[in-house]
Amino acid sequence: MSPRPPARRGACPAFLAPMETGDGLILRLVPAEGAISPDQLRGLARAATAFGNAMMEITARGSLQVRGLRAETVAPLQDAVLALGITPRLGLAIDISPLSGLDVMEIADARPLARRIREEMAGFADKLGPKVSVVIDGGGAISLAGQKADVRLIARHSGADARWSVTIGGGTPELLTEPDAATLALDTLSRIAALGRRARATDLPGCAAVPGASSDRNRAPSTPLGTFPLAHGRFACGIGLPFGAGAADLFANLADAAEASGAHDLRPATERVLLATGLDADGAHAFAMAARRLGCLTTPDDPRAFVAACPGAPACVCAHYPARDLAPGVAEALAPLLDGTVTVHLSACAKGCAHPTPATLTFVGMDDGIALVHEGAPSGARGPAVPVDVLAAMLATLAGTPRAPGETGRGLLARMQKAGLPAGLWLREGNDRPMVKT
Ligand code: SF4
Repeated sequence: MSPRPPARRGACPAFLAPMETGDGLILRLVPAEGAISPDQLRGLARAATAFGNAMMEITARGSLQVRGLRAETVAPLQDAVLALGITPRLGLAIDISPLSGLDVMEIADARPLARRIREEMAGFADKLGPKVSVVIDGGGAISLAGQKADVRLIARHSGADARWSVTIGGGTPELLTEPDAATLALDTLSRIAALGRRARATDLPGCAAVPGASSDRNRAPSTPLGTFPLAHGRFACGIGLPFGAGAADLFANLADAAEASGAHDLRPATERVLLATGLDADGAHAFAMAARRLGCLTTPDDPRAFVAACPGAPACVCAHYPARDLAPGVAEALAPLLDGTVTVHLSACAKGCAHPTPATLTFVGMDDGIALVHEGAPSGARGPAVPVDVLAAMLATLAGTPRAPGETGRGLLARMQKAGLPAGLWLREGNDRPMVKT
């Protein structure tokens, strides 16, 4: 039996179009300039408590979310956001590093290119579907390689200048000057718009996704936890929300800690991270220590950094199991395998909201149980599923198998999967098809 297909509940939550889910409506907010002040974050936390269920999230793409709204509380929350002086990004998602323009490691500042694309697409922007996205990666300390994109631009050194490697859908990258890269991106978006609101870049001739292909093999995904040097001797400090979520009080406490540490602003970042910027070295340390006391992730080797989990039951109506509730136990149980080579995804249905690319292991909710996918997307899960209450035994078997000398966690899992061990666990052969659409 196949996984129950997730109900189509609109595309994704947005600031002007909150999405219905198990615990009410979710409103997604991306600050237009990427940053908010500690005071604005405190105000947002107050609004999330007054108008939602006091749960907030930072997504894998670096968006803020407020959960548990009711139809009659959406407008008051939107008003509160605007009254706080936060300008939400509307329209096409153009993702850049939250440290663009500050990062001493970046090859090029992505902001001018993002600005030009946004300004010049105004004539056809409303004809693009809500899932179309552009990623502009300036080649700095924070990689955006884990973000799916219809149009991906990555800065490259080219002699004394920078060039942009541009990939359309699953096509072959082209190395272009900045004006030519902007022209190609705009032309592509206009061609997608001409195909209608369900169209994506992969629908364009020659741009289909190739199984196993990567748009740029030279740029690996990264989780921006830890300290990053900025211009003028300042630092950014990235801390992680456990599995991307927390009570509004946690966000307010983080705002207080950032302010007390001397931060200039706060920036939601990829992989469920919150960056405080403008810190001196002591301030960066103080913010990280405060965040750790609050239960947040502060180093990239925290086992929780390798586990993504969607909210699951009861928060989402599509869920077959309580993914986020189980996530801390999964991270703890699998810690011996989480050596940086393994990613784990708890997806309470086949939609795979929490992890846009295939993980090493995905525990997919189906038939009110769990199926396991190795090196594949949740949509590749096939039954029969095992009951949720045998998960602990599954994890103990996986984590308790000794590694061969020099073997990575990922290597061990591949060996076990090939051998069909432990019996009954590997419910599905490896499926390396990348997820093209969500
Ligand atoms: S992946 Fe999780 S959050 Fe997304 S629709 Fe399925 S159950 Fe809901």
